[in-house]
Amino acid sequence: MCGIIGYIGNKNIVPLLLNGLKKLEYRGYDSAGICIVSNNRLHLVKKKGEISQLAKNPELNEINGNIGIAHTRWATHGEPNKINAHPHFDCKKEIAIVHNGIIENYHALKELLEKEGHKIVSDTDSEIVAHLVEKFYSGNLENAVIKALKCVEGAFGLAIINNSEEKIIVARRGSPLIIGIGKNEMFVASDVAAILNHTKKVIYLHDNEIAVITKQDYSIKNLEGKQIDKKICEIKWTVDQIEKGGFKHFMLKEIFEQSNVIKNTLRGRIKDSKIKLTLNLNTNLINRIIITACGTSWHAALIGKHIIEKIAEIPVEVDYASEFRYRNPIIKENDLIIAISQSGETADTIAAVKEAKSKRTKTISIINVVGSTIAREVDSGVYLHAGPEIGVASTKAFTCQIVSLLLLALFIRQEKGLRLDKKILQELSILPKKIKQVLKKSDEIRKVAEKFKDSKNFLYLGRGINFPVALEGALKLKEISYIHAEGYPAAEMKHGPIALIDENMPVVFVSPKDHTYEKILNNMEEIKARKGRIIAVINEEDEKLNKVAEDIFRVPKTRAELSPIINIISLQLLAYHIADLKGIDVDKPRNLAKSVTVE
Ligand code: GLU
Repeated sequence: MCGIIGYIGNKNIVPLLLNGLKKLEYRGYDSAGICIVSNNRLHLVKKKGEISQLAKNPELNEINGNIGIAHTRWATHGEPNKINAHPHFDCKKEIAIVHNGIIENYHALKELLEKEGHKIVSDTDSEIVAHLVEKFYSGNLENAVIKALKCVEGAFGLAIINNSEEKIIVARRGSPLIIGIGKNEMFVASDVAAILNHTKKVIYLHDNEIAVITKQDYSIKNLEGKQIDKKICEIKWTVDQIEKGGFKHFMLKEIFEQSNVIKNTLRGRIKDSKIKLTLNLNTNLINRIIITACGTSWHAALIGKHIIEKIAEIPVEVDYASEFRYRNPIIKENDLIIAISQSGETADTIAAVKEAKSKRTKTISIINVVGSTIAREVDSGVYLHAGPEIGVASTKAFTCQIVSLLLLALFIRQEKGLRLDKKILQELSILPKKIKQVLKKSDEIRKVAEKFKDSKNFLYLGRGINFPVALEGALKLKEISYIHAEGYPAAEMKHGPIALIDENMPVVFVSPKDHTYEKILNNMEEIKARKGRIIAVINEEDEKLNKVAEDIFRVPKTRAELSPIINIISLQLLAYHIADLKGIDVDKPRNLAKSVTVE
């Protein structure tokens, strides 16, 4: 999620690290820091805010050295502020670390280390690693890191230095890390973009590998201590290509990230078939839930209503934040308000939370950006851990919101003392694999996009939990292709929109094999009879709907609660390809802003 760069060599180290950080800024940008070894001391400079803020710090002009690590943070644990910014020190300020990822068992480790006398100063999960290395250090940094990592659960990309050994130790599990090879100098980075100006020769670390890097050399082992020979790769991409991970647009990159980021939303939250969320809630006292949100988050909320009512057995209402705040809503003591927003800065949702708080109701949030206004306003919350979303049209935040709502529903059920259906947990664990199967259809979907890109209108239809998917599919198309599109409940279509159907009208059906399947088949026939052009998202084994539809996107079957995630991905791809084929800059659609901080 965040960015790491490290350097060992004779160049002017501060500008080198700062320039590297700037190249990584698209990955995270809430705070940044640098630590350099000079005269056997570690010099640390950190700052809240963007890298340009860090670069202005006069202290940086006074430091020089041959070894340094730097970090641009995208907070997962602990507010974005100076103390929580990386690098982090041990107690003696002789070891410094930068970390990318999430240490799942940091609560337990923190308790243990504090009992042993360690003073932990930040709220991050990452600082724990510095103290663990300190605990095991007896003259050899590499050995101490190996021992420390044996205690750690979760994901990490780590770069670690100390004041006395002329080396950088890096280690990886789940978060990318590379070594850049130069002449009499070496680089480490979470992303090639950071070092591409200096070298094109890199080694990609794999999970559970650790490397010791000196000015002239490197050695790579696995965490069991076995030496590993690695291939040196030659990078051929430009910086721009790399920032987007080789994708043409951030939106497409983020669509493709979904199989991975969902793992981050789930990380550490299901253990031994139990849901682990840190929520300040007395679940037995909740009589009603009101979810308030805007735009794509409002669509996630509508899906959340289906999920929560079914699993947690509590009635749910969904309200646009902009309507809720001005309606003087009736809120009772045992109501729970859930606010959903990617940025946590959506003005209307902030106002809705304040309205709820003024009526003394419990509030929780589902937010991506840690420490954002809504996250601070509410009693407690669930972070998405989806990483920065840069594409204006939200994609990965939406699917991670649905996963978070499902975790929340399961958590409430569990806390109420009701039995959890283990099959949902199993299905969640194979969801990333199923998402990958949908992503493989991107080229196929582009061919359909080519056929329909000049249409003036689209209708999207779905039923039940997939009706909000129809709304979201239509919204994606509107946002980035400027084609007029409407989402409708499939059965409602005959009460009005059916008048629009003719041979020029593409109608997208979201039609998985669930209890509404036969009904939706009828709705399709009604469209076909009026010469509408049907595109249908159907399940792999479906042999009926493919005969009615003109084009089909086959997706793997999953449980109803998870089907919106699988289904929306093909519609995100359809919208993306149509807009791209029309030559629109998908990442910057006209008139839209990423986070709507005005009313
Ligand atoms: N979990 C760490 C933190 O919150 C690292 C986050 C990241 O990967 O950006 O500081």
